[in-house]
Amino acid sequence: MNRIDVLGVEFDDMDIVAAVELAMGFMEERRCAYAVTPNPEIVLECRKNRKLAAAVRAADMVLPDGVGVIYASRILGTPIKNRLPGIDFASALMARMSECGKKVFLLGAKSGVAELAAERLTERYPGLEICGVNDGYFAQEDNELVLEKINALSPDLILVCLGAPRQEIWMKNNAELLNAGLMIGLGGAMDVYAGVVERAPRKWRKLGLEWLYRLIKEPRRIKRMIKLPGILFAALWRRIGG
Ligand code: UDP
Repeated sequence: MNRIDVLGVEFDDMDIVAAVELAMGFMEERRCAYAVTPNPEIVLECRKNRKLAAAVRAADMVLPDGVGVIYASRILGTPIKNRLPGIDFASALMARMSECGKKVFLLGAKSGVAELAAERLTERYPGLEICGVNDGYFAQEDNELVLEKINALSPDLILVCLGAPRQEIWMKNNAELLNAGLMIGLGGAMDVYAGVVERAPRKWRKLGLEWLYRLIKEPRRIKRMIKLPGILFAALWRRIGG
């Protein structure tokens, strides 16, 4: 597989069709493989947080989520050709899974959000079975209960939307304990599937301006976003041999 290093994170460079095929293959293996979808914030965080870096390194699929990752790869002289936002990958995968009646478990977001997402996903992908949901604010003591709940349903796919770095570390720590096919760490995607948060219109996404749209809609994200050009500076620094 073609993997491209961006500041210590090895990304898979593949188009959406190849990614869906690979994911379907993982599901058949049923060893609970997992996919991560790092954006620039996660790439930068991996340089400081060893647990997160280990969880990303151990992932079976590493897909470039933000346009900043693509720009950084270009600056480094090893361009990633395919940007693949996690939510686009998950949507294409669920469309494919709905053709063969597979089961999805939704884990994450605030109380009630996963239920809403389940309703909307069932409408959108009629052949898909949303077999169970759980919110993302359970305490560590309740982790075993969450695992039991999921294992009793043996889903083919688990959407893990606990926010970074919690979701990546959770997937690594629990993969071996889970009776499932594949997990995808998807951050705020549950809120989008539920209709609680609106995704940027297609035109903005095509222009690579999804981050700007989110900033306009949720100005409080400025504190997080202000750090993002850091990935470009870090790439430039690496390229010039700093
Ligand atoms: N979240 C969660 N459990 C937590 C922390 C966050 O379920 O302990 C959820 C939160 O409700 C939101 C999602 O994680 O739905 C994504 O959070 P974040 O803003 O970090 O992700 P991004 O928007 O960057 O994808």
